[in-house]
Amino acid sequence: MALIVQKYGGTSVGTVERIQNVARRVKKYHDAGNQVVVVVSAMSGETNRLIGLAGEISANPVPRELDVLVTTGEQVTIALLAMALQELGCDARSYTGAQVRILTDNAHGKARINDIDDTRVRADLNAGRVVVVAGFQGVDENGNITTLGRGGSDTTAVAMAAALKADECQIFTDVDGVYTTDPRVEPKARKLDRITFEEMLEMASLGSKVLQIRSVEFAGKYNVPLRVLSSFEEGGEGTLITFEEDGVEAAKISGIAFNRDEAKLTIRGVPDKPGVAYNILGPIGDANVEVDMIVQNISNDGTTDFTFTVNRPEFGKAEQILRRTAETLGAREVIGDDRIAKISLVGVGMRSHAGIASQMFQALSQEGINIQMISTSEIKISVVVDEKYLELGVRALHDAFGLDEE
Ligand code: ADP
Ligand code: ASP
Ligand code: MG
Repeated sequence: MALIVQKYGGTSVGTVERIQNVARRVKKYHDAGNQVVVVVSAMSGETNRLIGLAGEISANPVPRELDVLVTTGEQVTIALLAMALQELGCDARSYTGAQVRILTDNAHGKARINDIDDTRVRADLNAGRVVVVAGFQGVDENGNITTLGRGGSDTTAVAMAAALKADECQIFTDVDGVYTTDPRVEPKARKLDRITFEEMLEMASLGSKVLQIRSVEFAGKYNVPLRVLSSFEEGGEGTLITFEEDGVEAAKISGIAFNRDEAKLTIRGVPDKPGVAYNILGPIGDANVEVDMIVQNISNDGTTDFTFTVNRPEFGKAEQILRRTAETLGAREVIGDDRIAKISLVGVGMRSHAGIASQMFQALSQEGINIQMISTSEIKISVVVDEKYLELGVRALHDAFGLDEE
């Protein structure tokens, strides 16, 4: 008998019929003798709808209340799924995050899970029930409802699997696995049978929303076997997230990630002296704005230019802060651009192959795509380009690196 945690995303529970389908699938695993914990998201579109309602009342909703509001989405689906299972004669019980006691810190909207009490869940499993848990939510020490960030149901599932020492955590979604890139952008994208944790972590952090980054971190840290599968097709093996295997020669590139959610700020003509970077980025960090790529030019006239990227929703805030800094530092000007995108190549095979960067730059130049910024790590190369070239760039790179071929 195995213990499996299954997670079904928003599209997979988007209608009553789909919830009934999920129930049938869950029952099959249960009937086969497995213990099953199911984590579900809100019905597709529901979280956005709720955030929209809040926005009609307040431009800056109180984070505590926003969490109380958006967690109702998942409360609806757990109840409906438990009912659907019971209709099929499968004993089931639903729990909100607070009822399980998924204990988090108090960072509303982006809380981190500190501890999970598995007592009630285990008791139900031992009594032969399917346990249905609301994704995306927890509770802090003082009983306040919290949420784990967009896409956070993935993390609930992996954390439940870690707490229960489950045999596998299965993420059922609207694609049948992890692809070389988002199949919505490149129809020739190929499904990967396996991908390493390291690569999946990079893909997720660089914009591939198929798994929330924290779920991958969690799975790596607690050794949770993690698999991405289709909730619509039966029988596929999906994609297994694995630890790096010795002896198998890794492909040069495993995948391409991209992120439209970026903006770029440049401060020109800053007097070049010790402390420049600190003076520019200190106030940005103090305002809790995350900075991603950073480029500082070599100075030739005693001044330098400094460029960095931030998440697009924080562009306005960052620009305001930077303009104030420019005045204090006596910089020449501030230029902002919120129509950029980042494209990244990811692959552990990069470590042992030279010339990937130049091959990447060549492929982009052949399409007339200008590269605005570059950053590299051991297993990734990222470039910033004009947003309008995102799709073209992704497809050109997919071709150049032969990612559609086995
Ligand atoms: P769910 O609601 O089930 O959590 P998501 O929309 O969060 O589903 O994630 C699935 C989506 O992720 C897919 O529909 C696909 O468009 C997108 N995606 C982005 N990058 C990839 C990739 N490399 N492989 C597969 N899907 C990807
Ligand atoms: N419903 C939440 C969201 O839309 C959590 C999730 O789907 O994973 O972000
Ligand atoms: Mg998701």
